[in-house]
Amino acid sequence: MIVVLKPGAPQGVVDALVDQLRGWNLETQTIVGRENVVIGLIGDTSSLCDDRVQELSPFIDRVLRVKKRFKRASREFHPERTVVSVPTAGGTVEIGGEGPLVCMAGPCSVESEAMILETAHRVKAAGARILRGGAYKPRTSPYDFQGHGESALELLAAARTATGLAIVTEVMDTSDLEAIAEVADIVQVGARNMQNYSLLKKVGQQPKPVLLKRAFSATIDEWLLAAEYILAAGNPNVILCERGIRTFDRQYTRNTLDLAAVPVLRSITHLPVIVDPSHGTGLSQFVESCSKAAVAIGADGLMIEVHPDPARALSDGPQCLTPDEFDAAMANLAPIALAVGRPLQTAAPAAARP
Ligand code: PEP
Ligand code: MN
Repeated sequence: MIVVLKPGAPQGVVDALVDQLRGWNLETQTIVGRENVVIGLIGDTSSLCDDRVQELSPFIDRVLRVKKRFKRASREFHPERTVVSVPTAGGTVEIGGEGPLVCMAGPCSVESEAMILETAHRVKAAGARILRGGAYKPRTSPYDFQGHGESALELLAAARTATGLAIVTEVMDTSDLEAIAEVADIVQVGARNMQNYSLLKKVGQQPKPVLLKRAFSATIDEWLLAAEYILAAGNPNVILCERGIRTFDRQYTRNTLDLAAVPVLRSITHLPVIVDPSHGTGLSQFVESCSKAAVAIGADGLMIEVHPDPARALSDGPQCLTPDEFDAAMANLAPIALAVGRPLQTAAPAAARP
């Protein structure tokens, strides 16, 4: 249930209402919007009569029921779009809302100091605000490269110091979370762990924003319920990442990039949504076109894999752009971003096509 207050409701009224509702053994969450204050009631409100709540104060505008199973993630609960703020040495990066598009870029895995530093400098010069790179890698085969772990975290920290870029990196195991959260500005929960509920609860209990990738076969409801775990555990800063789902055709692309999920999500959730066309297609040649489509359809940002030498990459080489290809993609994306009113920061916005 959601209690929407009239514009200008005094703080004393809001506090008194919250006390009263809590006195009825209800958990509340107060969201202060530009116009209205909204008090969300969490838990079983089925026996509560709407009129009884409405009568609590003349400052109550309306009482609504959220029918969706995800409450905190729903647009009804939080009508204004969430903007996730990530402080960096180069200023705060904001993801979501109506502001500029944010690009996260970097290798699939952190392989060496030289490669992560070179990639970090290049993606920054092209306009990326956030460096991605896996230290702990979820690999389908136990014989594939598993990531350099802790030493890779140190390299990410060095790349952040050298460039001022924010860092996003994946956590697979709750026991690594503390060390990862020390280095990461955004903690990534990968597709394979989207329904690892103990991990979701743990990332929800720490303060760093969480990038939640969609699982291969997750419905949008399942994905938002996974986000709900993080929100319910106390962390309001969740970014959703569409990275392709498993469908019947894997002949020409690794996954099926579900771009329709972007406008669907925008209509039902306030959380920012970014698109990862690298895992979404699995092939570098399709990354730029799918990035353009993602921007055009309303994504708040992109996550793109970039490697200085994709042919020698230890993971996901076929889908990595070279730094030169990334430069070109960013330049070619800029006019589309401008056209949808969400400019993309690039090093050279006026750069011509190569
Ligand atoms: C990744 O970002 O490198 C990754 C493993 O992604 P996903 O969880 O989407 O497969
Ligand atoms: Mn990858």
